Parts: sequence; C-alpha cells; structure tokens
Amino acid sequence: MSKVLVIGAGGVGSVAVHKMAMNPDIFSDITLASRTVSKCEAIAQSVRERTGVTIKTFAIDADDVAATTALIRQVGPKLVVNLALPYQDLAIMDACLAAGVHYMDTANYEPRDEAHFEYSWQWAYQDRFKDAGLMALLGSGFDPGVTSVFATWLKKHHFERIDTLDILDCNGGDHGQHFATNFNPEINIREVTAPARHYENNKEVVTPPLSTKQTFDFDQVGPKNMYLMYHEELESLNRHLPEIKRIRFWMTFGDAYLKHLEVLQNVGMTRIDPVLYNGVEIIPLQFLKAVLPEPASLGASTKGKTNIGDIATGLGKDGREKTLYLYNVCDHEDAYAETGNQAVSYTTGVPAMIGAAMILTGAWSGEGVFNIEQLDPDPFMDMLNKHGLPWQLHELPAPLDF
Ligand code: NDP
Repeated sequence: MSKVLVIGAGGVGSVAVHKMAMNPDIFSDITLASRTVSKCEAIAQSVRERTGVTIKTFAIDADDVAATTALIRQVGPKLVVNLALPYQDLAIMDACLAAGVHYMDTANYEPRDEAHFEYSWQWAYQDRFKDAGLMALLGSGFDPGVTSVFATWLKKHHFERIDTLDILDCNGGDHGQHFATNFNPEINIREVTAPARHYENNKEVVTPPLSTKQTFDFDQVGPKNMYLMYHEELESLNRHLPEIKRIRFWMTFGDAYLKHLEVLQNVGMTRIDPVLYNGVEIIPLQFLKAVLPEPASLGASTKGKTNIGDIATGLGKDGREKTLYLYNVCDHEDAYAETGNQAVSYTTGVPAMIGAAMILTGAWSGEGVFNIEQLDPDPFMDMLNKHGLPWQLHELPAPLDF
C-alpha cells in the first residue's frame, strides 16, 4: 500500500493524478486536495471515467501550515506531492516535517512580493529533513526535472567531462488565443520578464530580459526563435555538476506573445506591487491572471508539439570530443486525448508522477533535501519511456556555434 497526497488541482496536478491512477500497483491510494475543492472533484470524475479509479478529494489552503499538517495526519500518506504554486513550497515542507512524511515538488520557492526565485530557502531545510529521516525531492517536473535527469544520464553514460550544457525548451503548440500562457500566468510572466542569467565558470552572467535571441530548428516542430532566460535548474546544476563551464537555458516565444507581453509590461499590468483601485488594493499581475484564459482551458484547442532537451558538449567516455542532443517530443493533442490536459501540463505532470514513484517504490531514497540530479537517473529514464515521454539521443556534427 502506497498512499500519496497531491496538493494542487491545476493542469499539472490533473495530469499527475491521472497518471498515478493508471499505475495502481505503485499508487494504491490517491488523495487530491486544493484550494477549490470543485476543481479536485472535476479531476476525480475524469480519473474515474478514464481509469475506473476512485480518488479522495479535500479542500485545503496550503498556506495554512496547521491545517495542512492536520490534513496530512488525517489522510496518512507516505508522500506529499506539492503541485500547487511555488509560493506554497515552504508551508508544505513545514507541514510534511510536522506530520513526518516525505515531500516532493516541481518548482522552487518564490516569495509572492519579490519576482525572485532561488533554492536557498529550500536548501535551508536540509538539516531538518535529515534529522527527521525524511526525503524532500525538489524539482521533479520537466524543467526543472527531466532536463536535470538528462544531464546526469549523459554524464553517467556518455561523458568523462561535460564542458557546456544548453537546455532548449520549445513549445511549438498553437492554442488559437491572442495571448495566453501555458501554465500559471502569474508564475510564467514573472519568469519571462526577469533578467536572463546563465553560468560561465561557475559565476552568474546577467543580461537584460529577452535580449539574446537565436533561431534553432527543432525536430518535429521546425525553426523557432528562442531566447536566453534564467531558469531555476541552472542554479542547482551549477552546484551539483560544477565541472560544466557554461550552462544556459533557452525558451521559444512567438512574436505575438512577445508583442502582447511588451505592451502589458509598458502599461504596468505585469507589476507585482499593490495598486489602489476604487479603494481596494490590487496586484496588477494577479488581476491580469484573472482575465487571461485558464491554462487548463487551452487543452481542447491546442495543436502542435513541444520539444525539450539538453545539448551537451565535452569529452566522451570513448575519448572523443562530442556533442550529444537528448530530447523529448510531446504532442499536445495526444496529451489531451489521454488526460484532458495539453502538453505543457503533461510534460510536467508525468515526471511528477515518476518522481513520486521513485520515492514510493524506494528506487530513490535518502534523508535531507535533494535536487533531482543528485539521484540515479536510470530508473527515471526508464519510466519516461514507458509512461508517455519517450526520449531520443542524437550526436550533433559540431557544438552549438552561438
Ligand atoms: P495552476 O495555476 O493551473 O494550478 C495551481 C493549483 O494550485 C490550482 O488548483 C490552485 O488552486 C492551487 N493552489 C494555489 N494556491 C493554493 C493554496 N494556497 N492552497 C491550496 N491550493 C492552492 O498551475 P499549474 O498546474 O500549471 O502548475 C502547478 C505547479 O507546477 C506550479 O508550481 C508551477 O510553477 C509548476 N510547473 C513546473 C514546471 C516544470 O517543468 N518543472 C512546468 C510548469 C509548471 P485554485 O484552482 O483555487 O487557484
């Protein structure tokens, strides 16, 4: 019997719970809790219709540590999978420590009032999890998540030494809307409008947001413009694979998305400080989120594919300098047909299910706080192939020339 409690009933939570229900040998008892219980119930109904599995649902405000601790004690899971928002990470980690259960998430902590995310807050829990004999697994989505597993798998099986690593995240999907984000708009816009940072010789190099652009021809998607961005796995990969001399993260954006974003920024709609409106304080970015399409509603109309992967250059185990490209291609319509969610939620929810499976089956164990690249990539890579995110490995004729 492996009981799991998932917190967060958005697109990612929905995919993770569907995939857990499809693996009852690992997830024998599933509970889903979130702020709005009707969203949990809608997911539970879809899971029942698609898989025949019944999951339990609860309302919870995960910012309330006492209430979350009480819920964990009532449900009695071995693991809590946090698929709410990055703002809830520390509160849910506190509740897991209080209730004595393992913790997992897909995004690092971010305070609501600063457009700033880093691992320091969660790494500071190391001693508390270690002393309690519990495991906290950070960042088991696609990026962070699979992209870091890809890096350690490449290092384990193919490289003596990796010199440069580029993570390329391409969403070639079209949802037919003028402007919408594929995951939580508040988190997405905060991420995209932040200064770009990458690592060179273990030091951060900062450049203005969206100021470095390259075109790359993605398999099954075609040529796309991609932009240098900061992404949280850069910080943990730099710490855990310090031999890598340059680590960068690139994400594709269409011109229409960037045009809308520029206007929204220029008129102040992406601000995260409170503004007085009709005597009420509102945060413009939160108001913007309320008027944009819910990411979960985009699934039915999204067509096209995502292509996300790592390009590593270094000294191969065979003594040759080489460049390898390891990536997954995921089809939005296939993801929707299987789980009722588009590929951005799917590519995050499936690795969340796999990370949870690693802990529940004991394939991964440990005491303390772990980033995913600290663990053996092999069982995770096997499950990606079996559970909807198969990967491909190709040798490129030359390193990236930018
Ligand atoms: P959504 O906004 O669709 O879903 C978030 C869910 O969390 C909602 O159901 C929301 O409830 C719930 N929630 C918010 N606050 C609370 C709270 N205080 N207590 C309980 N529940 C709460 O986001 P996504 O599903 O797209 O993303 C989920 C997580 O996955 C995020 O942390 C995101 O950053 C991360 N992510 C990671 C990726 C990766 O590759 N590593 C990629 C994409 C996302 P309500 O419905 O009431 O608002």
